[in-house]
Amino acid sequence: MFNLVLFGPPGSGKGTQSDKLVEQYGLIHLSTGNLLRKEIADQTALGLSAKSYIDSGKLVPDQVVIGMVDSFFDQHKGAKGFLFDGFPRTVAQAAALDELLTQKNTAISIVIALEVSEEELVKRLLKRGQTSGRSDDTDESVIRKRFAVYGQETSPVASYYQAAGKFRSIAGEGSVEEIFAGICSQITSAR
Ligand code: AMP
Repeated sequence: MFNLVLFGPPGSGKGTQSDKLVEQYGLIHLSTGNLLRKEIADQTALGLSAKSYIDSGKLVPDQVVIGMVDSFFDQHKGAKGFLFDGFPRTVAQAAALDELLTQKNTAISIVIALEVSEEELVKRLLKRGQTSGRSDDTDESVIRKRFAVYGQETSPVASYYQAAGKFRSIAGEGSVEEIFAGICSQITSAR
């Protein structure tokens, strides 16, 4: 299996690039943000408990997210690889993911981080908020909170994968095609 983590702050382009990568490499897209929004839309108990965290820009508790990923794996047993988007977001999630993958006799192949300046991120998120219907993209204070959470809880995940020799980063500013080409060349060198 080939398992890729696309890493980067909110608005760095992970969703856009994921769509292209899934098409190119036939990976199964696992976006915990999308799964959580689906739970909210379906008004499940999990969705109701996750909503207040998402609306205030905080992370949903690790155990909830890890449980959701575990059942996603159960639903996609024949997958030839996964593309993780917006997960893992804490070191505890990264360690849990390693364990789940080990149980499946596989592992993370590579982590690719998209580097984008905070000024550009805010601009992109406010623009996305005009059409995405996502309340967490329309309020600048929630956006700033998400960056703070990213710096405190998610950035350490980069060191976790650096220590494992799996971390690469590329410029996330430029055209969608240029960034995609950068990701593909990292994937080629890791295969
Ligand atoms: P995203 O669509 O990835 O930007 O996620 C939107 C929101 O969902 C985040 O701001 C968090 O509140 C929540 N969320 C998504 N993925 C995770 C995760 N791996 N761990 C905790 N919370 C998450």
